[in-house]
Amino acid sequence: MRLSQYFLPTLKENPAEAQVVSHRLMLRAGMISQTAAGSYSWLPMGKRVLSKIEQIIREEQNRVGVHEITMPTLQPDELWQESGRSDAYGKEMLRIKDRHERTLVYAPTAEEVVTDIGRRFMKSYRDLPVGLYQIQWKFRDEIRPRFGVIRGREFLMKDAYTFDVDFESAEKTYYRMFSAYQKTFARMGVAALAVQAETGPIGGTLSHEFHVLAQTGESTLFYDPKIDELKQADTLDLKALTELYAASDELHDPAKCPLKEEELRTTKGIEMGHIFYLGMKYSEAMGLQLQGADGKMFHPHMGCFGIGVTRMVAAVIEANHDEKGMIWPWPVAPFHVGILNMRVKDEATSQICEALEEKLGAMGLQTLYDDRDERAGVKFADMDLIGVPYQILVGPKNAANQQVELKNRRTGEVELLSVDEAVNALKSQQEHFARQVFQG
Ligand code: ATP
Ligand code: MG
Repeated sequence: MRLSQYFLPTLKENPAEAQVVSHRLMLRAGMISQTAAGSYSWLPMGKRVLSKIEQIIREEQNRVGVHEITMPTLQPDELWQESGRSDAYGKEMLRIKDRHERTLVYAPTAEEVVTDIGRRFMKSYRDLPVGLYQIQWKFRDEIRPRFGVIRGREFLMKDAYTFDVDFESAEKTYYRMFSAYQKTFARMGVAALAVQAETGPIGGTLSHEFHVLAQTGESTLFYDPKIDELKQADTLDLKALTELYAASDELHDPAKCPLKEEELRTTKGIEMGHIFYLGMKYSEAMGLQLQGADGKMFHPHMGCFGIGVTRMVAAVIEANHDEKGMIWPWPVAPFHVGILNMRVKDEATSQICEALEEKLGAMGLQTLYDDRDERAGVKFADMDLIGVPYQILVGPKNAANQQVELKNRRTGEVELLSVDEAVNALKSQQEHFARQVFQG
């Protein structure tokens, strides 16, 4: 992509309305534009990151064997009457009347619709286990939308729903999904902590929230230091991990905490995902029944598994930035490499930039080429703000020797390299992350 031709409406000043760093940086870098309270348009660079995050989530969901579908955003209120949630949901759910005076709701979640799909098509225990997921827009009329896309009203969510014959099988599904979540967040270059969550009327321990660790996060998390040890082990004991003590500020009760205060570790996080064993709540309420191996009818045990996709973009920024701007982890970066032409009117300089653009592009890397006739200071500041993981600086003096500077955005380290050496260094980065995708 050539910066001179891109739609990247960066802001020089800090927007007054932004209280958190991710919101500020997303506005400053022209990733999003607020259309209405809690409702954002995703501009080209924001959309690139959003799509990459979506794709990583999709790949890891597919890998655990759940199948992607798409359900409507507007759902008939009748389904919500059946589950009993139409009244329970209250004002957070947006209701709309169609021309026939029928009430539609803009989906805040989709248990009802997916259970309805189940009762149309699932006949016997042989059809299970099965899981369906979508990556679809949700609307929740939050009282206080804030922090940009962290708490929006319209937001993108990955929501998966699973069906199993009994608790034992549902528990296996739960742990498979749990490990998929860990892999998903790790691939995005963020550390996540799973904390025990409120299970409501169903009880049991099978509900966890996944928090991305970020110093600027809103939730305080309390956890058993053994979790850190476990996470470093070669093979992860998932069950042990999920049963060790970890709670968020809303759930942490010092009186009930199994650990002494001096043993507890604390950290800050942002809730990115929530997984839940639902039991037979929806299958019973909505009459989803299948024939069991013994010929008797049974209600499947369900689970639901959410990730806030739009919120994730902000969470990655909260966990990866400095005073100059964003620092994208390679797998979710809008571009892998920025090419900075320090003298667009110098032919040798421009030739090297264009050759790099072509070579890196042919390798499958995405480049952002700053070909604008701008001052060096402006180019440095913009590229640092955008946070592309690697920058190649090409100036007339080095260009005369076929040399460039390769800068690592995170460490700030700059190396003077030949053009080929720079390309090879980026190639090994690319290979490193490609290998990561196929591990475990
Ligand atoms: P919260 O406690 O933050 O309101 P929730 O418990 O209502 O979250 P879930 O219903 O479990 O959230 O939704 C699954 C995921 O969707 C959450 O973990 C979060 O990442 C995301 N999410 C929920 N509400 C919003 C929102 N208003 N804006 C952006 N993302 C959201
Ligand atoms: Mg909520």
